[in-house]
Amino acid sequence: MTSYEQVIESVPKGAYVDGAWTPVNGDASFEVSDPGNGTALCRVADTGEREWDAAVDAASAAFSEWKLTNTELRADLLRRVYDAVMDQAEDIAQIISAEAGKPLTEARAEVRYGASFIRWYSELVLADRGDFAASPSGEYWMVTKKEPVGVALLITPWNFPFSMVTRKLAAAFAAGCTSIIKPAGFTPLSSSWLVKIFHEVGVPAGVVNLLPTTKSAAMSSRLLKDSRVRKVSFTGSTPVGASLLKGAADNILASSMELGGNAPFMVLSDADLDQAVAGALVAKFRNAGQACVGANRIIVHTAVFDEFVEKFVAAVQQLKVGHALEDGVEIGPMISEKQRVETHRFVERGVEEGGRLLTGGEPIEGAGYFYQPTVIVDAPVGGHLWSNELFGPIAAVYRTNSDDEMIELANRTEYGLVAYLYGQDGKRTMRIADGIESGMVAINRPIISEARAPFGGVKASGLGREGGVDGLNDYQVTKYIAIQR
Ligand code: NAD
Repeated sequence: MTSYEQVIESVPKGAYVDGAWTPVNGDASFEVSDPGNGTALCRVADTGEREWDAAVDAASAAFSEWKLTNTELRADLLRRVYDAVMDQAEDIAQIISAEAGKPLTEARAEVRYGASFIRWYSELVLADRGDFAASPSGEYWMVTKKEPVGVALLITPWNFPFSMVTRKLAAAFAAGCTSIIKPAGFTPLSSSWLVKIFHEVGVPAGVVNLLPTTKSAAMSSRLLKDSRVRKVSFTGSTPVGASLLKGAADNILASSMELGGNAPFMVLSDADLDQAVAGALVAKFRNAGQACVGANRIIVHTAVFDEFVEKFVAAVQQLKVGHALEDGVEIGPMISEKQRVETHRFVERGVEEGGRLLTGGEPIEGAGYFYQPTVIVDAPVGGHLWSNELFGPIAAVYRTNSDDEMIELANRTEYGLVAYLYGQDGKRTMRIADGIESGMVAINRPIISEARAPFGGVKASGLGREGGVDGLNDYQVTKYIAIQR
């Protein structure tokens, strides 16, 4: 047995409810497989109404005590979780690589990134404060304090299966909420490992619960109707986010939505082209293009278009595609055959609409759901490639003549998560950054996310922020108390 098979064997496969793992029985279980070769890794409990209701009972019962715990206790527990995650980082990275097909170097980076939220919230919660003042009339004292919002339902996607859970769970936990995690069906194993760590450091029963299921829609609709659940935090696609918001409306649930993206990657005429090419490789091909922050529309000033494209295509052709656990691999598989078929359809549509294929453009034969890293130029603005989130290793490159048109093109999308901008004149890049409709702008950097910064989008990319101070506030309500002097 290889070391990663041993790690997979030791991942708990049940649901975790009220401080205990449920057994996995054959009928009520689903298969988790390795997208890099299509083989089965294990079976995981497929929970139903009984476990869902038990989780709400447990989370709601635990909340009445947990919300009163002192912040030092929550901070200490989170710090112990952080230390354990860092000690077990290699095991967790292997789990992520096996279940998500993410190359090991990227999986290791995801573990560090995921862990950084745990540390950040363990520290931030100690500095959390309210306010105390005399009323303007002088008649009474005014106190404002933060309280946890209540039982939180946390729903996460497969493309960052570990860090999307820590980004939510650490903030909810620090705030004093109890949580019910619904991991993605493709990738439940790294979240099980994380929950195992919460159990091992002594987190009280009911504070953290985990419900793998293949019946996500039935589960969310049941839980959103339960008035004991007070918050839903979702990361995933925009259509599912919109349907959850509708479901959340009846109970006036606090809602945070981290949804899809269609990021522009802008290269100005004065950009350092080597830096821009290196950045585009990361921003586009990270996780085989399966990222909400993926560079979906690479928009290059005409003056440097040919040189950028020549260098970019040469670099893309060097990318090493392979199984996530092989040495030196930079591009893993698509998560599923369906995702690969959709990726190929994107390429076909782009070419039908007039785009020129410069490299790639075909599925890779053999085991696993691999697709060639692909570059297409001059597909039409407003066409299929332009308007949709390309969740695959396809780079679409467009051209523009001016900074004003660059801003207009960048904003020509329903999404607004992140924008990338490469240029050397600080005033010029800031002017463009000001004009971009998105929650985040990265200047001369391909990676923006950071535990201490607010992550999130505008328009169809979502509501609320994760990370930073805002990420904690999103699990809190403010109470105001007036005291007669
Ligand atoms: P998805 O919307 O299909 O699924 C996300 C999660 O929701 C999964 O756990 C899934 O099982 C669950 N789900 C699906 N239908 C549901 C329903 N009706 N009720 C409750 N839960 C439901 O998305 P995906 O394919 O897993 O992930 C890719 C999408 O996630 C992309 O659109 C990407 O941009 C987005 N994403 C956004 C961010 C961000 O921070 N903004 C981060 C990562 C991924």
